[in-house]
Amino acid sequence: MARYRRLGLGELFRFKCIRCDQCCGTGPNVSLTCFDAVRMARFLDMGWRGFLKLYVNVIVADIYPFMSIRGRGGRCPFLHSSPSGETLCIIYPARPLKCRLYPLVLTAPRPDALYLDQHCPGVGRDGERRPPRRLLEHYAWELGEHYQRLSRLLLEEKLEPLEALERLLDQAWREAAGGARWADLDYIESLGQT
Ligand code: SF4
Ligand code: SF4
Repeated sequence: MARYRRLGLGELFRFKCIRCDQCCGTGPNVSLTCFDAVRMARFLDMGWRGFLKLYVNVIVADIYPFMSIRGRGGRCPFLHSSPSGETLCIIYPARPLKCRLYPLVLTAPRPDALYLDQHCPGVGRDGERRPPRRLLEHYAWELGEHYQRLSRLLLEEKLEPLEALERLLDQAWREAAGGARWADLDYIESLGQT
């Protein structure tokens, strides 16, 4: 069976998370937009520079800098265990939109560039549901905006990759401080989840 199945925006699929932690506990591979990084840093009550230093890997491929969560011991650093042994995401309200969507995966900044990861053990369980359209539309906007802004800084302003990333995060940080809607966790929650 192919791992990823193309899914229509209004197509029904079956999924119930069984909290197996496969997605968070086996070497996280969660890429971040500047919007994710700023939401997460603010939630943790730290600046974006400190957040990057502690939790983010940055790699430069061609000229583009890419951010992803830095795993610890093969797990996401935000996956903690409660005294009773239950695992929980300690940044759940501010978790990256990629996590909010999983096992749905967007492969381009368009809400219909949608796939279902059939390796998730929760896929195929329980009742049918449709993809969360508003969340997909918003995530597609964030992805597109992230790369458009980055391209401008790299190609028009001719900044070095890491300098461009810093500028991008600074701009997003100021927008969040100024009350940007994407930084409001209640707004993000209202968009739904998978
Ligand atoms: S989303 Fe899937 S892989 Fe992740 S914890 Fe739930 S069932 Fe497991
Ligand atoms: S941020 Fe939270 S939901 Fe995302 S991989 Fe880490 S523990 Fe899992």
